[in-house]
Amino acid sequence: MATKFFEKNRKERLDEIVKFAKLTSEERQILEENGGIGFDQADKMVENAIGTFSFPLGIATNFFVNDKEYLVPMVIEEPSVIAAASKAAKIAKINGGFRMKNEESYSIGQIQLVNIRDKDAMQNVLSHSKEILDLANTKSSTLSKMGKGAKELSCKQIITPSGAMLIVELLIDVGDAMGANVTNTMCEGISSLVEKITGGKALLRILSNYSTRRIVSGSAIFDKDEVGGEQIVDNIILAFEFADNDQYRAVTHNKGILNGIIAAANSTGQDTRAIEAAAHAYAAKSGKYRSLTQWSKDKNGNLVGKIELPLSVGIVGGIINVHPTAKVCAKILKVASASELACVIAAVGLAQNFSAIRALASEGIQKGHMKLHARNIAAAAGATPEQIDAIASKMVQEGKISINRARELVGS
Ligand code: NAD
Repeated sequence: MATKFFEKNRKERLDEIVKFAKLTSEERQILEENGGIGFDQADKMVENAIGTFSFPLGIATNFFVNDKEYLVPMVIEEPSVIAAASKAAKIAKINGGFRMKNEESYSIGQIQLVNIRDKDAMQNVLSHSKEILDLANTKSSTLSKMGKGAKELSCKQIITPSGAMLIVELLIDVGDAMGANVTNTMCEGISSLVEKITGGKALLRILSNYSTRRIVSGSAIFDKDEVGGEQIVDNIILAFEFADNDQYRAVTHNKGILNGIIAAANSTGQDTRAIEAAAHAYAAKSGKYRSLTQWSKDKNGNLVGKIELPLSVGIVGGIINVHPTAKVCAKILKVASASELACVIAAVGLAQNFSAIRALASEGIQKGHMKLHARNIAAAAGATPEQIDAIASKMVQEGKISINRARELVGS
C-alpha cells in the first residue's frame, strides 16, 4: 500500500487514501476542499474571529506500528518532515516496524490548598480518599459507566515563599479523551469537600499538563546497511550522546522529534501546546534537559532507537469531533483508542528523530532541506507551478538560494 506515494499526483494520492480508509465521497470532498472549516465554524471556536488559516496536510507512508499498517496524516508547514518520517519508517519496517506501548491514560488534576493549619490535613485527605473519589465520579456519568473516572488520590506539600501549601492530586482514567475538561470539572467539584476536610482554602483547581501517567514508549531497529553502514550508525550514536549531554543541542534534537509528533497530532486536532509542554518537562525530569530518544547498537550492529514521553491525546472530545478534516484524518489513521493514537504519534517522533540525526551525522541536513526550501523561495518569488522545480534546481546547483536570485530567474 502507498508505494511511491510521493510520485503520484493529488488525485491518485486521494484515490489511494479513500481506498485504504474506505472514505465516503463526502469525506473525500472534505479533503479536496481547502482547510476543512469555514468562517462560521471558526467564529464559534475562538473569539474575535476574522477568518481561517490553512496549513499543508500530507501523508507519511510505510508506518508499521505494533504489526499494523498506518498511513499517517501530518499537518505541518515545514518542508522535509513528511518525507523524512516516511523514509525512516520504511527502514524500520525491514525489522518489523515500531514496537510501542502506552499502558494507562490517567490525567492528573491538582487542587492547591492554602492557609492549612491542621498538621494532620494530608493524612485526613488520604483517609477520606474514597469519599472524595466517589464525589469526583458523580461529575462524569460517561466515564463512570465505562468503569473509568477518578481512581486515585495523592497529596504533597510544597514550601513556597508564602508558606506551606497542600497539593491534592486526583488521578482520573480519562479513557479515549484528552480529558482536560472532565479533570477540571472534577477538581472544582471536590474542592469544597477537600476544604472541609483540611480546614484550608482551595485556590487553583486545574489539570496538570505534565501527564506522567500517560507515558508512551517504544523502539525500532534500523538496519545498519540501510542506515548507510557502520560508520553512520556510530556517528548517529555520537550525535545522540551530544544531545543527551548538552542542552543547547538537546532542545534542537527534541524539536526535531516534535516536528513529527506535532504534525501527526495536529492532523487529528490534538492540543499540541499540552503535548509540547509535557514533552519538554519530561526531557528535564532528571534535573537536566536531555534527549527524549536514546540510540544504541544491537549485537548485529543495527541501530536501535527508543523513545519515551508523556502524550495526552484523545480520539473523542475537544475539536476532534468538530473539525471535519480532523475527523477524516482520524479515520485515515484507523485508530480505535487514544492509546493506539499515542503509540502511532510517538512512532512518528522516533522516525523523525532518526532521519534528522542520520542526515546530520552523514551529509548534513542542508542538502535535502535546501532543495525543498528552494521550491518555497521560488514560489514566494512568483514562479508559476511549471517554473518552480526548474528554478529551485538551478538555485541549488548554483549554491545561491535567495529571493533575489529566484526573482531574476522568474523574470528571465
Ligand atoms: P471534552 O470536554 O469534549 O470531553 C470529552 C468527553 O467525552 C468526556 O468527558 C466524556 O464524557 C466523553 N466520552 C465519550 N466517550 C468517551 C471515551 N471513550 N473515553 C473518554 N471520554 C469519552 O474534551 P476533553 O478531552 O476533556 O478536553 C479537550 C479540550 O480541552 C482540548 O481542546 C484542550 O485544548 C482543552 N483544554 C485544555 C486545557 C489544558 O490543557 N490545560 C484546559 C482546558 C481545556
